[in-house]
Amino acid sequence: MIPVQGLSGQTVAVLGLGRSGRAAAVALEAGGAVAVVWDDGAAARAAAEADGFTLRDLTKAGGFDGIARLIVSPGIPHLYPAPNPVIAAAWAAGVPVDNDIGLFFQSFASADWARFSTSPRVIAVTGSNGKSTTSALIHHIVEENGRPTQLAGNIGRGVLDIEPPHDGEVVVLELSSYQTELARALTPDVAVLTNISPDHLDRHAGLGGYVAAKRRLFAEGGPDRCIIGMDDIEGQFLANQMAMGATDDRVIQVSSGQKLEGAAWSVFARKGFLSEYRKGRQVASVDLRNIAGLPGAHNHQNACAAYASCRTLGFSPKGIEAAMQSFGGLPHRSQLVAERDGVWFVNDSKATNVDSAAKALQAFPKIRWICGGLQKEGGLDALLPHVGGVVKAYVIGREAEDFARQLAGLETQVCTTMAAAVAAATADAMAGEVVLLAPACASFDQYDSFEKRGDDFIAQVMG
Ligand code: ADP
Repeated sequence: MIPVQGLSGQTVAVLGLGRSGRAAAVALEAGGAVAVVWDDGAAARAAAEADGFTLRDLTKAGGFDGIARLIVSPGIPHLYPAPNPVIAAAWAAGVPVDNDIGLFFQSFASADWARFSTSPRVIAVTGSNGKSTTSALIHHIVEENGRPTQLAGNIGRGVLDIEPPHDGEVVVLELSSYQTELARALTPDVAVLTNISPDHLDRHAGLGGYVAAKRRLFAEGGPDRCIIGMDDIEGQFLANQMAMGATDDRVIQVSSGQKLEGAAWSVFARKGFLSEYRKGRQVASVDLRNIAGLPGAHNHQNACAAYASCRTLGFSPKGIEAAMQSFGGLPHRSQLVAERDGVWFVNDSKATNVDSAAKALQAFPKIRWICGGLQKEGGLDALLPHVGGVVKAYVIGREAEDFARQLAGLETQVCTTMAAAVAAATADAMAGEVVLLAPACASFDQYDSFEKRGDDFIAQVMG
C-alpha cells in the first residue's frame, strides 16, 4: 500500500466503496488522515461499517463540515449526465474533489528514494482501446527484462494498493477517462495515448469532453516522454501540441499503418513489421507476425506503444522483442478459446464499442460474427465498412432484432442468447472460418460485465 502523504491530521471523505474507494480509505489512514466513507448503496455502507470503516452521511446538511477533500470513485458521475448530489454538495461547500489517482501521484515519491540508484518511474496508459493490452504488455516486457514492476489502475488493482516501489521499479498504470478527468495531481514520467474513438459520450457530454479528459494526462503533469498514437486526428493534434517542433523527441509518434519516418522519434508497424526511427534513420525492427499473443493490426498498434515505452527505459530492441514473444495476451481480447475441425473460436467480449469490434473484424478473414447487446450512442454506421469478412452475423442481446435490422446487406440470424448464437454459428462454420464474439455493445442487458459475457461464450463453446 502507498500511504497518502500531505493530508495527515485532516479528515478526508471517500465516496464510493468499491475496490478503489476502500483502498483509498485505508491508504489515507495509513498516512495519518482520518477517513470517513459513504456510498449511495445501503448494502455497501453496511459492509464497509462491518469491516471497520467510519461512515459519515455526506447527504445531510453539514455533511462536509471539517472535510479537507472528497475522494470519488471512477464509477460515479461528477458532471454528466448529472453530477452525483454528494459531489455537487462538495462543490457547494468548497471542498476540493479528487480521486485515488490524484492521491497516488501526490504520495508516490518518498524519502527512501534518496538511497536508490535508479528512481522509480510511472508509465501511464490511456486511450479508447488497447489500454489494458498495452499496459499488460509493458508490464510483461519490464518484468522479463529483470526490472521490478507493478501494474495497477483501471486494470483491476487500485493504484494505492500497490507496494511502495523498489530501487528502479517501473509502475505501469492503466487510466480511463473517468480517472484522468478528476485527478488533481497527474504526473507520470511517461504518458501513452493508444488511440481515440467515440466512447462514454454520455459521461463526457460528447467527444470534446472525452478527449479533454484524456488530454489532462499529457497537459497537467509535463511527462518526460509522450507516446502518442497518430492514427486519428485527436492524436495528431495532441502530438503537435506536446512537441516544441519537428526535432523534439519528447514525443514518440506511434502508428499501425503509417510510415512516420520524418518524426524526431517514431515507432510504427506496417504489414506485420515494427520499425523504430530516430531523426530520419531506422534504428531497429521487429517481426510481429508470429507473436501469438498480439494478433491483428490493432495489437500491432499496442505493440508499438509498448515498445516505445520500454525504449524510454533504455531497454534494447532485442530484449523487448524476446519478451513480446512470450506475451500470452489478455482474456476476452482476441482470445483464442478453441480450434476444432479447422474452425477457430475467438473471444473478444471486450469489444464493447464500435471501433474495437471493427478492429477485431479486420483481424480475421472469414467470420461467423456473434454480436449485439446494449448499444452505445452513435449507431453502427462506423462498423459497416469493416464487415466485408463476415459470412453471417448471429445477433444476441435484448435488442437483437433492432441490431440485426441495422446490419443491412449482411446475412443475419436473431439468436438473442449466447447459447443459441454459439450453437448456430458452430453448426454453420466451415474449416478456415472463425467464430468470433465481438459484440460492439456493452453487456449489461444480459450480463454483469464483459468478463461474464466472455465466460459464457467460452462455456458454450466448450460445452
Ligand atoms: P481497453 O483497456 O482500452 O478497453 P483492451 O486492451 O482491453 O483496451 O481492448 C479492448 C478492446 O479493443 C478489445 O476488443 C480489443 O481486442 C480491442 N483492441 C485492443 N487494442 C486495440 C487498438 N489498439 N485499437 C482498437 N481496438 C483495440
